[in-house]
Amino acid sequence: MTAMVEISAVHKFFGDLHVLRGVDLEVERGEVCVILGPSGSGKSTLLRCINELERISAGRIVVDGELMGLREVTRGTTTELHRRSDKDIARQRSRIGMVFQRFNLFPHMTTLDNVMEAPRKVRGWDKARARTKAEELLTMVGLSDRMEHYPAQLSGGQQQRVAIARALAMEPDLMLFDEPTSALDPELVGEVLAVMKQLADSGMTMLVVTHEVGFAREVADQVVFMDEGLVVERGTAAEVIGNPQQSRTRDFFAKVL
Ligand code: ADP
Ligand code: MG
Repeated sequence: MTAMVEISAVHKFFGDLHVLRGVDLEVERGEVCVILGPSGSGKSTLLRCINELERISAGRIVVDGELMGLREVTRGTTTELHRRSDKDIARQRSRIGMVFQRFNLFPHMTTLDNVMEAPRKVRGWDKARARTKAEELLTMVGLSDRMEHYPAQLSGGQQQRVAIARALAMEPDLMLFDEPTSALDPELVGEVLAVMKQLADSGMTMLVVTHEVGFAREVADQVVFMDEGLVVERGTAAEVIGNPQQSRTRDFFAKVL
């Protein structure tokens, strides 16, 4: 069986800025891959390339057997090497859930409506089906007593758990998390990580960018350390965090641990 995500020799430029400089990475089905690394190393850009919010400049990304769009940019000239229709991009993106640092819930909608919105609009589910699914997910993230609340009435940790439920409502095959706990007060981080751990235990394939080294140690099947647009080191948590081989990795953990 092929991996869920296959990334080979991926480069990304923003103008002259060479942000991803030959990234290789593979994530198996059911695997939790935690990406650590200093700010500006290209972690968010890599996640955004995986669901085609950004298109890569060179290399190859295959998600669930499907090749992502690719264009080559050489000295200001753009060549389309593999073009996908907007429809194909939208269809595949709807199978990839994404959770950001900022929760971006719809402020004028209740928790329940926030979670029901995408399946109704994108999947065309009827109200009863979307509601059953939303109730199930909100119960799973521990918010069965907050379904009629508005985002402003919830704590940051609760809002982020709604955001996770909202992403799961589309029944994704892959979940991407970009620093999901970085905007939270410290006492609210644990409840969000607990939901993510539960999701990992249920077999979801997850790519998680975080600074939570404890979460990486406890939950990750694979830990990736990125610096300056490159995967410097990858392996188990015990290898990468516990016994880093590269000086850049050692320096990073010496500062954060
Ligand atoms: P990280 O998530 O590891 O902090 P990012 O992927 O956000 O890193 O950013 C990597 C580099 O790319 C940074 O120098 C950032 O300023 C730059 N960058 C990110 N997005 C854009 C963009 N849309 N346009 C120009 N530069 C960008
Ligand atoms: Mg980032």
